[in-house]
Amino acid sequence: MKDAIQLTGLSQPELVSFLETMGEPAYRGRQLFAALQHRRLCSFDEITDLPKDLRTRLNNVAKLATLTVQSQYLSDDGTRRYLMKTHDSLPVETVFIPEERRDTICFSSQSGCPLQCTFCLTAQLGLLRSLTAAEIVDQIRITLNDAYGTGVKPPRGTNLVAMGAGEPLLNLDQLLKALRVMSDPQGLHIVPNRVTVSTAGVVPRILELARISDRPHLAISLAAPTDELRNELMPINKRWPLEELLSACKAFEKTLKPGERLTFEYVMLAGINDSDEQARQLANLLNRHDIRSKVNLIPHNPAEPLPYRPSSDAVVERFKNILESKGVHTYVRRPRGQDIFAACGQLAARQTTLNTRVETNLVGAN
Ligand code: SF4
Repeated sequence: MKDAIQLTGLSQPELVSFLETMGEPAYRGRQLFAALQHRRLCSFDEITDLPKDLRTRLNNVAKLATLTVQSQYLSDDGTRRYLMKTHDSLPVETVFIPEERRDTICFSSQSGCPLQCTFCLTAQLGLLRSLTAAEIVDQIRITLNDAYGTGVKPPRGTNLVAMGAGEPLLNLDQLLKALRVMSDPQGLHIVPNRVTVSTAGVVPRILELARISDRPHLAISLAAPTDELRNELMPINKRWPLEELLSACKAFEKTLKPGERLTFEYVMLAGINDSDEQARQLANLLNRHDIRSKVNLIPHNPAEPLPYRPSSDAVVERFKNILESKGVHTYVRRPRGQDIFAACGQLAARQTTLNTRVETNLVGAN
């Protein structure tokens, strides 16, 4: 069954066509799509509105669940973190962050990551492989089922952010396929406008994304105001340096909708990128390119063996004030789930690289 078709990565029309190739009428495809994407069912046995013989035939040629939950962790602040496993035993991390008015699910686009950002534990895994559209969709289905119960409508809206493991723009085809499946009103109905994709700066793909009409929002991880420092922290900068990256952002700006801003993420590393001078350099850089944007200052989640510490609250506040005094819209992202290592790639990297089992806050393990 290794090459079995992964049904949760198929759009409604694709599922209809697939069932037609099995000699079934179109309405069976629509029924199956609703069972997977609206009722979020995870086994053929549960889809009792399909005839038993059809379920048996489907079971022989197709796969319903592409991921299994290996461990899950619940933070004191309600954040849930999942370490899932693909059929070929690769780690996939997903984080559920409940907030007053909406929930956010942070999903992974790859298992591991080929980029080598020095402040990120996932980097230490290297790229294991890119995820399929079904594996992306299944992270959301599994997370919503766990948070609210199978098929239960979430009480608040759901936002998605592609900020888990991996560089989403290096898996753009599968990512866009997954987003199309999830946007269907008869399924999960999470439209691209509720999705933010975060990139380390893959310039050609930023330009490609700009040409897509129903694209998600874009966030760029900057982490440094100069090429010299960014080359060190994010080696992708040697391939696409800041001037080239910000020129691509300027081109992307033309596609922004009214009220929409491009987001620049800036992880705050004590003594590395958080000085007053660096705040001024960052403001000057952004002002020079005059992009309709905002900056999110992100507290670094410390994780051994990474050699970085988070900036203090006072330093973050000061950095923010300098940016704002120069006209840059700036927000500080509240750290969530710190007690469960809820930063990019921390869980898989911890388990895989360090072979360490996290025992605190364990609420279940499959
Ligand atoms: S920060 Fe993101 S892009 Fe950089 S290595 Fe980690 S997962 Fe990859």
